[in-house]
Amino acid sequence: MALFEDLTSMGHEQVVFCHDKSTGLKAIIAIHDTTLGPALGGCRMWDYKSEEEALRDVLRLSRGMTYKAAISGLNLGGGKSVIIGDPKKIKSEALFRTFGRFVESLGGRYITAEDVNIRVKDIEQVALETKYVSGVTNKAGGSGDPSPLTAWGVFNGIRASVAFKLHREDLKGVSVAVQGCGAVGSHLVEHLVNAGARVFVADIDPDKVKANVKLYGAEAANLEDIHKLNVDVFAPCALGGILDGKTIPELKAKIVAGAANNQLLDEVIHGPQLKENGILYAPDYVINAGGVINVYQELQGYDPTIAKKKAAGIYDTLLAIYKESEQLGITTNQASNMIAEKRINEVKGMKDLRNTLNNQTWWARH
Ligand code: NAD
Repeated sequence: MALFEDLTSMGHEQVVFCHDKSTGLKAIIAIHDTTLGPALGGCRMWDYKSEEEALRDVLRLSRGMTYKAAISGLNLGGGKSVIIGDPKKIKSEALFRTFGRFVESLGGRYITAEDVNIRVKDIEQVALETKYVSGVTNKAGGSGDPSPLTAWGVFNGIRASVAFKLHREDLKGVSVAVQGCGAVGSHLVEHLVNAGARVFVADIDPDKVKANVKLYGAEAANLEDIHKLNVDVFAPCALGGILDGKTIPELKAKIVAGAANNQLLDEVIHGPQLKENGILYAPDYVINAGGVINVYQELQGYDPTIAKKKAAGIYDTLLAIYKESEQLGITTNQASNMIAEKRINEVKGMKDLRNTLNNQTWWARH
C-alpha cells in the first residue's frame, strides 16, 4: 500500500510500529489528530489475515475516534492501537508490559484503553509501565466497565430521535426492537422498559433473550425478523454492517438508533438510502459515545454522577445534528462529520493565531 498517500488522505499525524522479539509483540499505534487533545482510543487484539489488514483497521478506527471525541465535545484527539495475533495464544504479562512501554514512549500523545479482546486485567498490566491508560477498574480509581454508560447515552439518543421524528416527549408506548442484548443491549432494554416503552429483543444467544424477557418483561422476536418489525425504533446493538441494500428496504421503523459500531455497510450509499426512505438515522459514533465520555471523566478524576450527566448530553448533540441535516438537506452522518470537522478546524485556527502572537513577541524582542 502507498502508506504516506493514505496518511495524507486520511489526515493521520503519526503511525508507530512496535516490535519486540522476546515477547513476540507486533503492534501498531495510530495517532490520527491531536488538535483537541491527546489521542485516546482502545487497543484491539486481533488475528489479522495480513499486516496490511491490521494497518487499515487501525487507521480507520483512529480516525473514527477523532470524530467521536470532537462531536461529543471532549478535549481529546483520536487514536487507536492494534496488537496482531490470536488472543488465545499470545497474551502474556510481558507482552502487555512491553506494549505499555511503547505507549509511555509517546509521552502522552496517545492514551490507551480496552477494545475488542482486551480485558481490564490486560490493561492493568499495560498500566504497570505507563500512566497513559484509562479504563482501569473502579477499585483502582477508574471508570470500570463502560457499557452501562454507553447504554445510558443510547437511551438518551433514542429519546432525542423520538422527540425529533415523532414529536413525542416521552417513550410511553413507543415500540423499540433491540438487536443484540449483550452488555449494552440489556442495560438499554432496562432503561426503555422503565420509561414505558414496548421492547422486542433478539440475540443469537437464547439465554440472553430469556434473561431480558424474565428480568425486564421484553418480548422475544426472531433473529431474522428483528429489523423488520413494525416498530417505531430499530436499535442495532450487536454487529456492524447491519444496514445495507437488503435490510434497509425491509425496515418499517422510522428511526434507527442503537449502539453498534459501523452500522452502515457503506456510509456513502446507505446513509442517503435511509434518508430517501424517510428513516431518521442516529450516527453510530455519536449515539454510542457514552463509553468514551465515561473514560474521559476518568482522566479528570472519576465522578459517576458527572459522567452520567455528560452522557445524557448525547440528547442535545443529536438534536443539533438532526436540525443541521434538515436545514442543509444532507444526511445525519454528513451533518455530524461537518460539525465535528468545524470544531477541529476552528481550534486549529486558534493554534495558528497563538503561533503568530509568539512570532510577534519574538520580533518585538529582536
Ligand atoms: P456484547 O458482545 O456484550 O453484546 C453483543 C450481543 O450481540 C451479544 O449478546 C451477541 O450474542 C449478540 N449478537 C451477535 N451477533 C448477533 C446477531 N447476528 N443477531 C443478534 N444478536 C447478535 O457487546 P456490547 O459491549 O454490548 O456492544 C454491542 C455493540 O455496541 C458492538 O457493536 C460494540 O462495538 C458497540 N459499542 C459498545 C460499547 C461499550 O461500551 N460496550 C461502546 C461503543 C460501541
